[in-house]
Amino acid sequence: MEKIIDENKQGESLIIEKKAGNNRKLFIESYGCQMNFSDSEIVASILSENGYNTTQDLKDADLVLVNTCSIRDKAEQTVRKRLEKYNAVKREVNPNMKVGVLGCMAERLKSKFLEEEKIVDLVVGPDAYKDLPNLLSEVDDGRDAINVILSKEETYGDIAPVRLNTNGVTAFVSITRGCDNMCTFCVVPFTRGRERSRDPQSIVEEINDLANKGYKEVTLLGQNVDSYLWYGGGLKKDFDKATDMQKATAVNFAKLLELCAQAQPKMRFRFSTSNPQDMTLDVIETMAKYQNICKYIHLPVQSGSNRILKAMNRQHTREEYFKMIDNIRRIIPDCAISQDMIAGFPTETEDDHQDTLSLMEYVKYDFGFMFAYSERPGTLAERKLEDDIPEATKKRRLQDIIQLQQEHSHYRTQQHLGKVEEVLIEKESKKSDAHWAGRNSQNTMVVFPKENYKPGDFVNVKITDCTKATLIGEPIGYSENN
Ligand code: SF4
Repeated sequence: MEKIIDENKQGESLIIEKKAGNNRKLFIESYGCQMNFSDSEIVASILSENGYNTTQDLKDADLVLVNTCSIRDKAEQTVRKRLEKYNAVKREVNPNMKVGVLGCMAERLKSKFLEEEKIVDLVVGPDAYKDLPNLLSEVDDGRDAINVILSKEETYGDIAPVRLNTNGVTAFVSITRGCDNMCTFCVVPFTRGRERSRDPQSIVEEINDLANKGYKEVTLLGQNVDSYLWYGGGLKKDFDKATDMQKATAVNFAKLLELCAQAQPKMRFRFSTSNPQDMTLDVIETMAKYQNICKYIHLPVQSGSNRILKAMNRQHTREEYFKMIDNIRRIIPDCAISQDMIAGFPTETEDDHQDTLSLMEYVKYDFGFMFAYSERPGTLAERKLEDDIPEATKKRRLQDIIQLQQEHSHYRTQQHLGKVEEVLIEKESKKSDAHWAGRNSQNTMVVFPKENYKPGDFVNVKITDCTKATLIGEPIGYSENN
């Protein structure tokens, strides 16, 4: 693979991998969670073995793929707007381009996508990307093509991703696929299937390859990383049928984290997304044991009300969640924690909403991802519960949550004032080309003067000021991990 430097729409420099001899051009864009962005790198790799290199120019593409998200109605509307854009480009400047849809919306709509969107030639679900070459030959023969079969085994562990839109410093490595939790508001179990974990050996090989290519940080990815469990392949739910030997040698998430941290002691490790009902103490203890496992946990909670948590089929109470938070604070006092929150879930009362605010007051999260409830077709909540909270009430409650989170985010950033933080430089600051930007172990962005440092350096920075979301400081030298 040959590497060239390019720029994205934001003017940030990017490393693009190209394969010599490939003469077809792939334009691929992704929406939604990091899993989708990571999957698009798998797709780019499969197609680079079939004559395609990526291009940043839609007008120049032979094949246009959009990796779609179904988590909220707005995400699907965004995709439909992009398809209109492709339609215009196809009509005006690129009549031969082929268009395909990937990801969760493709899996949710299946052949309906071909009926509803005439521009679409190809529909491929998250577990069927290895079938792309066959499907593309059908499209080349003038037929529409579709494969939305969900798999019990597929983890793409044997595919070396082609890094897309990369800064050459940080990368994502997927470790599990699917989710068995069936939260009543969520489409993921329907669009990504049952939980299965990837062979730890192939994960460590990918991490070693990234280290050899100069990457300094890896985020281990999964819809629900805490339920990672490798016992030789197969679904998580079939673990009880495993042999005694398989059970004795099984690798859980804490063990996998340890394997990664030991394999590359100078590389940083993060992980996302956790689930409070599956997170175990040994994960937190392993984080505390290794300096190169970052002190940050994304721990979605969705609501602070026990009644609503039950209606969401979240398998924990607010009290059990507080206990998890207390354990994290006891074992890793400076650990940052972030949340996902839903405002206006069906039947939510003002008291339930106050429970959410009081839970946030207890935790004082570093930051969060907060949304109003969006009914998703096919979910248990859509089938059983009426979406009965008025939009205005949803909006007001969401505003309450966002406002409180901003107060807490500022409270948390102020805790860093006067401290020295190890920062991994990722890119130029958005606000000044005289400053670098990178994150500390707690996943907070830090901005400081460039001096002679460069992206990929670990730098100790004295924090002198902060905003609600960003720390500002002065570099005082390379960290020992550089
Ligand atoms: S844990 Fe719940 S919210 Fe998260 S992906 Fe699984 S079903 Fe969806």
